Amino acid sequence: PQPEINLKDFIRGVPDFPKPGILFYDISTLIRHADAWQIATARMARAVAAFKPDILAGIESRGFLTAAPLAQRLGCGFIMLRKPGKLPGKTISLQYGLEYGADELHIQEDAIIPGQRVVVLDDLLATGGTLAASIALLRKVGAKVVGASVLIELTGLKGREKIDTDLNALISYDM
Ligand code: 5GP
Repeated sequence: PQPEINLKDFIRGVPDFPKPGILFYDISTLIRHADAWQIATARMARAVAAFKPDILAGIESRGFLTAAPLAQRLGCGFIMLRKPGKLPGKTISLQYGLEYGADELHIQEDAIIPGQRVVVLDDLLATGGTLAASIALLRKVGAKVVGASVLIELTGLKGREKIDTDLNALISYDM
Protein backbone atom coordinates (compact mmCIF):
# COMPACT_ATOMS: atom_id res chain seq x y z
CA PRO A 1 0.00 0.00 0.00
CA GLN A 2 1.16 3.52 -0.80
CA PRO A 3 1.80 5.78 2.18
CA GLU A 4 -0.43 8.85 2.41
CA ILE A 5 1.71 11.35 0.60
CA ASN A 6 0.61 14.75 -0.65
CA LEU A 7 2.88 15.43 -3.60
CA LYS A 8 2.36 19.18 -3.21
CA ASP A 9 4.34 19.01 0.02
CA PHE A 10 7.40 18.15 -2.10
CA ILE A 11 7.09 20.85 -4.74
CA ARG A 12 8.75 24.16 -4.03
CA GLY A 13 7.55 27.46 -5.47
CA VAL A 14 10.54 29.67 -6.30
CA PRO A 15 9.63 33.35 -6.76
CA ASP A 16 11.19 35.41 -9.57
CA PHE A 17 12.68 32.48 -11.49
CA PRO A 18 13.75 32.52 -14.29
CA LYS A 19 12.52 36.12 -14.52
CA PRO A 20 11.08 38.67 -12.07
CA GLY A 21 7.38 38.08 -11.48
CA ILE A 22 7.41 34.36 -12.38
CA LEU A 23 6.69 31.79 -9.69
CA PHE A 24 8.57 28.67 -10.74
CA TYR A 25 7.36 25.30 -9.47
CA ASP A 26 10.52 23.33 -8.71
CA ILE A 27 10.22 19.55 -8.92
CA SER A 28 13.85 19.00 -7.82
CA THR A 29 12.57 18.72 -4.26
CA LEU A 30 10.10 16.01 -5.33
CA ILE A 31 12.45 13.83 -7.36
CA ARG A 32 15.21 13.91 -4.74
CA HIS A 33 12.81 12.26 -2.28
CA ALA A 34 12.73 8.52 -2.95
CA ASP A 35 9.19 7.80 -1.71
CA ALA A 36 7.61 10.90 -3.23
CA TRP A 37 9.24 10.17 -6.59
CA GLN A 38 8.10 6.51 -6.49
CA ILE A 39 4.55 7.55 -5.72
CA ALA A 40 4.43 10.26 -8.37
CA THR A 41 5.69 7.75 -10.94
CA ALA A 42 3.21 5.09 -9.84
CA ARG A 43 0.26 7.49 -10.01
CA MET A 44 1.31 8.81 -13.40
CA ALA A 45 1.81 5.26 -14.67
CA ARG A 46 -1.79 4.37 -13.83
CA ALA A 47 -3.12 7.35 -15.76
CA VAL A 48 -0.84 6.81 -18.75
CA ALA A 49 -1.51 3.06 -18.94
CA ALA A 50 -5.19 3.86 -19.52
CA PHE A 51 -4.24 5.49 -22.85
CA LYS A 52 -2.78 2.14 -23.98
CA PRO A 53 0.38 3.65 -25.53
CA ASP A 54 2.95 1.87 -27.69
CA ILE A 55 5.55 4.58 -27.13
CA LEU A 56 6.07 7.45 -24.68
CA ALA A 57 7.53 10.76 -25.83
CA GLY A 58 9.40 13.00 -23.37
CA ILE A 59 9.92 16.74 -23.86
CA GLU A 60 13.46 17.96 -23.09
CA SER A 61 14.48 18.03 -20.41
CA ARG A 62 12.20 17.56 -17.42
CA GLY A 63 9.79 15.59 -19.59
CA PHE A 64 12.50 12.93 -19.81
CA LEU A 65 12.27 12.56 -16.03
CA THR A 66 8.58 11.72 -16.22
CA ALA A 67 8.57 9.73 -19.48
CA ALA A 68 11.60 7.43 -19.12
CA PRO A 69 10.62 5.73 -15.83
CA LEU A 70 7.05 5.29 -17.05
CA ALA A 71 8.17 3.73 -20.33
CA GLN A 72 10.22 1.19 -18.38
CA ARG A 73 7.35 0.47 -16.04
CA LEU A 74 4.72 0.12 -18.80
CA GLY A 75 6.92 -1.82 -21.24
CA CYS A 76 6.85 0.96 -23.84
CA GLY A 77 9.59 2.45 -25.97
CA PHE A 78 10.76 5.98 -25.24
CA ILE A 79 11.46 8.79 -27.70
CA MET A 80 12.91 12.25 -27.18
CA LEU A 81 11.64 15.64 -28.30
CA ARG A 82 14.73 17.81 -28.11
CA LYS A 83 16.06 21.33 -28.46
CA PRO A 84 17.91 22.17 -31.72
CA GLY A 85 21.31 20.61 -32.36
CA LYS A 86 20.97 17.65 -30.00
CA LEU A 87 19.62 14.79 -32.11
CA PRO A 88 21.80 13.01 -34.69
CA GLY A 89 20.48 12.12 -38.13
CA LYS A 90 17.55 13.65 -39.97
CA THR A 91 15.13 15.55 -37.79
CA ILE A 92 11.80 17.32 -38.22
CA SER A 93 11.24 20.50 -36.24
CA LEU A 94 8.60 22.93 -35.10
CA GLN A 95 8.94 26.44 -33.69
CA TYR A 96 6.61 27.64 -30.98
CA GLY A 97 6.02 30.51 -28.55
CA LEU A 98 6.91 29.90 -24.92
CA GLU A 99 6.04 31.54 -21.61
CA TYR A 100 9.63 32.85 -21.46
CA GLY A 101 10.41 33.43 -25.17
CA ALA A 102 10.50 31.32 -28.35
CA ASP A 103 11.84 27.85 -28.85
CA GLU A 104 12.08 24.96 -31.25
CA LEU A 105 11.70 21.22 -30.79
CA HIS A 106 13.08 18.43 -32.95
CA ILE A 107 12.30 14.78 -33.41
CA GLN A 108 14.13 12.15 -35.44
CA GLU A 109 12.13 11.67 -38.61
CA ASP A 110 12.09 7.88 -38.14
CA ALA A 111 11.26 8.01 -34.42
CA ILE A 112 7.75 6.63 -34.91
CA ILE A 113 6.32 3.83 -36.98
CA PRO A 114 3.30 5.62 -38.53
CA GLY A 115 0.15 4.85 -36.59
CA GLN A 116 1.90 4.02 -33.33
CA ARG A 117 -0.03 5.12 -30.24
CA VAL A 118 1.99 7.82 -28.52
CA VAL A 119 1.54 9.51 -25.14
CA VAL A 120 3.57 12.68 -24.61
CA LEU A 121 4.87 13.68 -21.19
CA ASP A 122 6.26 16.76 -19.51
CA ASP A 123 6.72 17.94 -15.95
CA LEU A 124 4.43 20.96 -16.15
CA LEU A 125 1.73 22.54 -18.30
CA ALA A 126 1.73 26.36 -18.21
CA THR A 127 0.48 28.17 -21.33
CA GLY A 128 0.33 24.87 -23.21
CA GLY A 129 2.61 26.07 -26.02
CA THR A 130 5.27 23.43 -25.46
CA LEU A 131 2.86 20.52 -25.21
CA ALA A 132 0.73 21.68 -28.17
CA ALA A 133 3.88 22.00 -30.32
CA SER A 134 5.04 18.56 -29.22
CA ILE A 135 1.74 17.00 -30.20
CA ALA A 136 1.84 18.72 -33.60
CA LEU A 137 5.43 17.55 -34.14
CA LEU A 138 4.58 13.96 -33.24
CA ARG A 139 1.69 14.02 -35.72
CA LYS A 140 4.06 15.32 -38.43
CA VAL A 141 6.06 12.10 -38.14
CA GLY A 142 2.95 9.92 -38.24
CA ALA A 143 2.13 9.39 -34.57
CA LYS A 144 -1.36 8.68 -33.34
CA VAL A 145 -1.28 10.86 -30.21
CA VAL A 146 -3.64 9.16 -27.76
CA GLY A 147 -2.96 11.26 -24.67
CA ALA A 148 -0.73 13.59 -22.71
CA SER A 149 0.29 13.62 -19.09
CA VAL A 150 2.01 16.13 -16.83
CA LEU A 151 2.91 16.18 -13.17
CA ILE A 152 1.69 19.74 -12.69
CA GLU A 153 -0.95 21.85 -14.41
CA LEU A 154 -1.15 25.61 -13.84
CA THR A 155 -4.89 25.81 -14.44
CA GLY A 156 -5.06 29.62 -14.35
CA LEU A 157 -3.10 29.85 -17.61
CA LYS A 158 -5.71 27.75 -19.45
CA GLY A 159 -3.05 25.79 -21.36
CA ARG A 160 -5.43 22.83 -21.43
CA GLU A 161 -7.53 24.67 -24.05
CA LYS A 162 -4.64 24.30 -26.54
CA ILE A 163 -4.42 20.53 -26.08
CA ASP A 164 -6.63 18.52 -28.42
CA THR A 165 -5.95 15.12 -26.88
CA ASP A 166 -6.86 13.64 -23.50
CA LEU A 167 -4.78 15.34 -20.84
CA ASN A 168 -4.02 13.99 -17.41
CA ALA A 169 -2.42 16.08 -14.63
CA LEU A 170 -1.45 14.70 -11.21
CA ILE A 171 -1.38 18.03 -9.41
CA SER A 172 -2.81 21.42 -10.21
CA TYR A 173 -2.30 24.99 -9.02
CA ASP A 174 -4.57 27.95 -9.79
CA MET A 175 -1.51 30.01 -10.75
P1 5GP B 1 4.23 26.21 -21.52
O1 5GP B 1 4.76 25.95 -22.88
O2 5GP B 1 3.06 25.31 -21.17
O3 5GP B 1 3.94 27.64 -21.27
O4 5GP B 1 5.41 25.90 -20.50
C1 5GP B 1 5.67 24.60 -20.10
C2 5GP B 1 7.12 24.27 -20.29
O5 5GP B 1 7.94 25.18 -19.59
C3 5GP B 1 7.42 22.90 -19.77
O6 5GP B 1 8.35 22.24 -20.63
C4 5GP B 1 8.01 23.14 -18.39
O7 5GP B 1 9.10 22.28 -18.12
C5 5GP B 1 8.48 24.59 -18.44
N1 5GP B 1 7.96 25.36 -17.28
C6 5GP B 1 7.27 26.53 -17.33
N2 5GP B 1 6.99 26.95 -16.09
C7 5GP B 1 7.50 26.05 -15.24
C8 5GP B 1 7.50 25.93 -13.80
O8 5GP B 1 6.97 26.74 -13.03
N3 5GP B 1 8.11 24.82 -13.28
C9 5GP B 1 8.68 23.89 -14.08
N4 5GP B 1 9.25 22.82 -13.47
N5 5GP B 1 8.70 23.97 -15.43
C10 5GP B 1 8.11 25.04 -16.01
